[in-house]
Amino acid sequence: MCPSWYDGLRFDCVGCGRCCRREGAAFLLPETVKQMARALNLTEEAFARTYMTSRWRYPSLASDRSGRCVLLTPSDRCALYELRPVHCRTWPFWPQVLESSQAWQEAAKRCPGMNDGPLIGRQTIMALLDESVRFFMALSEWNLLKKQKGGLLWKP
Ligand code: SF4
Ligand code: SF4
Repeated sequence: MCPSWYDGLRFDCVGCGRCCRREGAAFLLPETVKQMARALNLTEEAFARTYMTSRWRYPSLASDRSGRCVLLTPSDRCALYELRPVHCRTWPFWPQVLESSQAWQEAAKRCPGMNDGPLIGRQTIMALLDESVRFFMALSEWNLLKKQKGGLLWKP
């Protein structure tokens, strides 16, 4: 059976920043931590203290009490857009969003860019989905490794 996105899906981020302003997670892999710390001229430890937290035991960017990501600027732009985590960059082509058309429509209620804009073809969707799946696998592997080493590597 063909997946619900076989004929493509419409998506065009309108830059509203809504997905960066709610309580959630922007999970991080070690290479992203390194790149972000370097871009901000910080050590990884200093970056972790100021910008990171643990969500569901996974390393993530922190957010303020209202749920705004710590990297979201007052004008609702990502301060490190070019280095944003794979978790952010592959939205909305995550496995849990693509698993059914219902899941897609449910997510679209919170993201005005979904169901709008150019048609994203299945090849592009597959590439993003693949990247997203590999990202979540790498995140789990990293978490397992950290557990074996006795805890979170970058504890805020
Ligand atoms: S909620 Fe959707 S349209 Fe708005 S910034 Fe996030 S991805 Fe873009
Ligand atoms: S890292 Fe950037 S794109 Fe991701 S949630 Fe934070 S502000 Fe948004």
